[in-house]
Amino acid sequence: MSSVDGHPTRKLLSIVIPCYNEQEVLAETWRRLERLRAELGELDVEFIFVDDGSHDRTRQILKELAASDAGIRIVGFARNFGHQIAVTAGVDAARGDAVVLIDADLQDPPEVVKQMVERWCEGYDVVYGTRTDRPGESAFKLATARGFYRLLNRLSDIPIPLDTGDFRLMSRDVVDTLRAMPERDRFVRGMVSWVGFRQVALPYQRAKRFAGESKYPLRKMLRFATDGILSFSTRPLQMSVAMGMACAGIALLGIFYALALRLFTSIWVEGWTALMIAVLFIGGIQLISVGILGEYVGRIYNEVKHRPLYVVQEYLGFDGHGPTLSRSPVVNGR
Ligand code: UDP
Ligand code: MG
Repeated sequence: MSSVDGHPTRKLLSIVIPCYNEQEVLAETWRRLERLRAELGELDVEFIFVDDGSHDRTRQILKELAASDAGIRIVGFARNFGHQIAVTAGVDAARGDAVVLIDADLQDPPEVVKQMVERWCEGYDVVYGTRTDRPGESAFKLATARGFYRLLNRLSDIPIPLDTGDFRLMSRDVVDTLRAMPERDRFVRGMVSWVGFRQVALPYQRAKRFAGESKYPLRKMLRFATDGILSFSTRPLQMSVAMGMACAGIALLGIFYALALRLFTSIWVEGWTALMIAVLFIGGIQLISVGILGEYVGRIYNEVKHRPLYVVQEYLGFDGHGPTLSRSPVVNGR
């Protein structure tokens, strides 16, 4: 907090905003973020916008904003790498004493960041936003999200807070620990829970998307949910063993039944229907088990390839202190 000459140095807060095709919202987002900065008078603030390979005017709009404000930094990806990787790149580039992750679409109200900072000043290392209400989301998204967080908690070995997205503040200790976790299939909210330190929930009302459409179609959501479960649990593997055991158990009962009929009565177990059902049932269980195994093997394959997590086409606004010093094009912030 205090510098060598006795003057207290101001703390720096980094706000990381992943953006993918967000041209409709950026002007308003920036207006709200500027207002937040004014309210956080006692802190220095840097804004790190990560352009996750947008196809629209997102990069241009960001550059225009950066030209008029020294507090804006841009990490421009060479292609779309996905939300979790964009967040990771932002965290890698952040220099703040604390880092805030916030969506570009104003679903996470910037005003809540002020309360997060207050909790941080009280000594908490992670302040995560828990959604009390999510207006404007489809009933399907609400139900699947609710189900997912509960399932994840049942399967995962560490507790992961319910109804909590990536909207959160993290202290430098947490950020440094997170940066030392090089895994490819990143489920950032779970990784932050795994890290530990002092964590506290901050309930907030999630707003409607300000403009534009969700960049998380069902396919991406499913992928994300699978990542969450497979990165934090090996329980599915144990479940396939349990399914195998159950099948063997049922088969054993069938054998005893057939034997008993043969030995003690004059009738046989008849028909190929029972046979087909048994074959299909066992076949199904086997394929499911191989599939589960395959998901894990695929992830191991991804890890051993050791490709960089992301490729940055350009860093802007880091004025020589940041990752601009690295190779160009820069692969990975590490
Ligand atoms: N996003 C991203 N890369 C992607 C998809 C999304 O950087 O491939 C960003 C997006 O711009 C937004 C945030 O991640 O700032 C959350 O995405 P979105 O609002 O579309 O998801 P939802 O809130 O509908 O779950
Ligand atoms: Mg959103």
